Amino acid sequence: MQLELFITVLLIQNQVLVATASSSSEEDENSEHDGTNDKNSSHEHHWGYDDQEGWSSAFQHCSGQSQSPIDIKTSKVIYDSSLPHIELDGYDLKADPTLKLQNNGHTLQLSLPNTMRIVKGFDQVYLAAQLHFHWGTIAVPGSEHTIDNIHFPAEIHVVHYNSKYTNSSEAESKPDGLAVLGAFIGIGLKDNENYEKILSALNDVSIEDSGTDIPGFNVRHLLPNNLEKFYRYKGSLTTPPCFQTVNWTLFSETVMVSRRQLAALEDTLKAGHKQLLSKNFRAAQLLHGRPVLASFTSSQSVNKDPSEIKPRVTPSEGMSRGDKFAIAFGALFIVTLLSSLIYISKLRKTNSISNKDTRQDVIYKPAIKDDV
Ligand SMILES: [Zn+2]
Repeated sequence: MQLELFITVLLIQNQVLVATASSSSEEDENSEHDGTNDKNSSHEHHWGYDDQEGWSSAFQHCSGQSQSPIDIKTSKVIYDSSLPHIELDGYDLKADPTLKLQNNGHTLQLSLPNTMRIVKGFDQVYLAAQLHFHWGTIAVPGSEHTIDNIHFPAEIHVVHYNSKYTNSSEAESKPDGLAVLGAFIGIGLKDNENYEKILSALNDVSIEDSGTDIPGFNVRHLLPNNLEKFYRYKGSLTTPPCFQTVNWTLFSETVMVSRRQLAALEDTLKAGHKQLLSKNFRAAQLLHGRPVLASFTSSQSVNKDPSEIKPRVTPSEGMSRGDKFAIAFGALFIVTLLSSLIYISKLRKTNSISNKDTRQDVIYKPAIKDDV
C-alpha cells in the first residue's frame, strides 16, 4: 500500500516534470501575406514557400536590401529612448458587424475595419487592413522573425496602412505606406480564449479560398499585454511582391496559446486539394546595415528566450500563487525523495528479491543507484 502510494507520487511528479520540459523545449524552437488585400492573389498565384529563392525572378523587390523578416540579434539592437509608444484606438470591436476570415492559400487572414487605428507611435495615423498568421508544424516552429536565431512557434501580423493614402493597395507600394505590428506566439498551458474567437472557425475555412464571417471582438487582446517593449526596423512585405514599405514593430512579450490551439492552426487548413497549409514562413533576410532599434534596454528584455518566460511579478507584490506553488511543490518533491530513499533502503534490507522487481516500475533509477 505504502509502495503504491510512493510510486503514484513519483509518477505524477515525473509527468509534471516531463510536461514542463516538453513545453519549454517546444517554446525553445521557434508567412505569408503582408500584402493588404486580395488583389495580390492574381499575380502571386504561383509563388510558394518551397521556392523562396525563386521569388525574386518574378518579383524584383524580393532581392532588395531591406527585406523582411530578419533575425534580431539582441546584442546588436540599439536602445532608443525616444521611440514613442504605440497607442491603439478602435480595436474593441462590436460583435456586429462581423469580420471576414479567409484561407487564401498562403495564410489565415482576418479582414479588419479601418476604424481600427494606430493613433500614436508614428508620424502619421495608420489604419488597420487585416491580420494574419505564420506558423510551422509540431516539429518546426514557424515564426518569421527570430530572436538570436531562435524561432517561436508562430507569429501574428496586424497590417496597417498610412491614413494619407486612400486604401491599403494604394499604400503598400509607397515608402511610408505600411506599419505592421508583429507578435510572437508561444505555447502556454491554457487555451487563449481571445485566439479561440478565430481558431474556433478554422474548420469553416479549411479549403483554400474559402471564407466565413465571425463576430467582431476586442482585437487588442490578440496582442501582448505589454506594448511598450518592442523592436523597430524598416523592412518589407514578407511575401511577394516584397515591397520595401513596412515600418515594422515587433513586440518583445510573447502571446501564449495552448498546444491544442497551435495544433489546430498547424493541422486544419489546406492549400490546394490535399496539401496542408503549414510552414508558411519566409527565411530571415540579410540586414544590409539596417539598424534595429529597441524601445527598452536589454536588462528590461521580456521573453528574450521563449523558455525563459516567467510570471511578471515585482518584488513589492510579494510571492504570487505560482511562486508559492513552486515552493510547495519543491518541498513536496524533496520530502518524497528523502522518504523514498529511506523506504527503499529499508525495503532492500528486508527483501532484496522483491525489491528488484519493484525497481522496474520506479522511474528515478539514478536515485536508487546512488543509494546503493
Ligand atoms: Zn505576415
